[in-house]
Amino acid sequence: MSHAVPWPVSLSPTRNYVDGQFVTTAKTFPNICPINGVKLADVHEADAGLVDRAVHAARQALSGPWGRMSPAERSAVLHKVADGIERRFEDFVAAEVSDTGRPVAQARTLDVYRGVANFRTFADLARLAGGETFDMRTADGQDIMNYTVRKPHGVVGIISPWNLPLLLLTWKVAPALACGNTVVVKPSEETPSSATLLAEVMHEAGVPPGVFNLLHGFGPDSAGEFLTRHPELDAITFTGESRTGSTIMKAAAEGVREVSFELGGKNAAVVFADADFDEAVAGVIRSSFTNSGQVCLCSERVYVERSIFDRFVAALKEKTEALKIGYPDEDGVNMGSLISHGHRDKVLSYFKLAVEEGATVVTGGGVPHFGDERDQGAFVQPTIWTGLPDTARCVREEVFGPVCHIAPFDTEEEVIARVNDSPYGLAACVWTTNLKRAHNVSRQFRVGIAWVNTWFLRDLRTPFGGAKLSGLGREGGRHSLDFYSEISNICIRLS
Ligand code: NAD
Repeated sequence: MSHAVPWPVSLSPTRNYVDGQFVTTAKTFPNICPINGVKLADVHEADAGLVDRAVHAARQALSGPWGRMSPAERSAVLHKVADGIERRFEDFVAAEVSDTGRPVAQARTLDVYRGVANFRTFADLARLAGGETFDMRTADGQDIMNYTVRKPHGVVGIISPWNLPLLLLTWKVAPALACGNTVVVKPSEETPSSATLLAEVMHEAGVPPGVFNLLHGFGPDSAGEFLTRHPELDAITFTGESRTGSTIMKAAAEGVREVSFELGGKNAAVVFADADFDEAVAGVIRSSFTNSGQVCLCSERVYVERSIFDRFVAALKEKTEALKIGYPDEDGVNMGSLISHGHRDKVLSYFKLAVEEGATVVTGGGVPHFGDERDQGAFVQPTIWTGLPDTARCVREEVFGPVCHIAPFDTEEEVIARVNDSPYGLAACVWTTNLKRAHNVSRQFRVGIAWVNTWFLRDLRTPFGGAKLSGLGREGGRHSLDFYSEISNICIRLS
């Protein structure tokens, strides 16, 4: 099969970037393309010594040119980084596609587009950010004025996952730098390519040495753990699994470091009988199967009002079976492969467990058979289950694959309680044409974000994060500026 877009592309060797230099190490691990199992590159794994060098370089850079720049000057540098991503847009697309196996169209419109938007948004927001002032008079008549100033924390450690590699990495790098910090980043071992291209762009944009440092490696007993345990980090921001977040929180507790966590989800979509039926079906298809279900915000639980349940399940089945699975650049492809064959094994184990737990498999539940070379890819079928109790593991645990369980409900109160009866609290959707109901229901969900008649629309100025096991803190807009800044209060006696 020939490809209109060049994939898989190889960034070989895939190097670390420390103190303004690309660095190789003695130990490497392979970056495997999930679409065909081909080795893309040898990735140079950072050892404890290189992690230490990176953190020290980041510390030193705080007292160099970067530390002396005004917010406007830093903003200009970050816009140059955004320009650099735009110039190499298609290289980033090819890197994302090769590492993840996702459709080219998605890599363009979601991943790389958002990479640029993250830099532009936070470059502008941080340039405009100010402090607060408070006037007061004390009981004994003294006039007092307080004002606040924003300062960087210092060195920020950033650990990111594989599911939206460039989007999620830049979501944290951009505000951290915009606020004047320096960063040491560790992208997922599954997706090292776009982060490495980003280091090249940083280099070309003239970001001073030590301001952006990139380390490759794994989590436990590797670069991730060495970084999060490093005593000289001032703050840690992490996106990934809830369990990993808990481990990193313990490491951060050692030095009482600032943390921000964006973790897992088991999100619900609620469809009322008064919803626009076709819109709701199309919405649930998107929210359950985008990126093969590998978005933290995907709906793996769908609750449908009983009077339309059978019709909804039938319509969803029909639309799901019409989804085209295949190579990233095939005409009309909707779903690519999963991130790896290892992750496919995990998703398939949930497919098996669902049957053991008593699920009816409405559609899917296995791997697609193409009868050609695509059979080597880490593909799975989009899958719908019904008939599981709310207590089933498949209804409570995050699968992180293209799967949803659909259950009927009878009342608003009941469905709100069932949505909230989850260890997670990241996102929820409600589909209804009743305005009062939309407000009443969405505000009662215990989640970081609730969408009404849509899904995955993000204004980057708004807060983002999760409740319960889904995270700690909020990022986005001024919330990011607050997290990545240390705010000092100056109190002046005027009289
Ligand atoms: P993961 O937790 O396995 O890995 C994430 C990152 O942490 C990787 O870079 C990994 O190398 C590193 N890591 C792992 N163990 C570590 C340790 N002990 N110390 C330091 N670093 C360590 O997660 P994943 O499988 O890459 O990503 C999928 C998960 O991310 C899902 O649970 C998904 O819901 C979640 N996620 C959440 C959001 C959000 O915004 N809430 C966004 C995207 C993904």
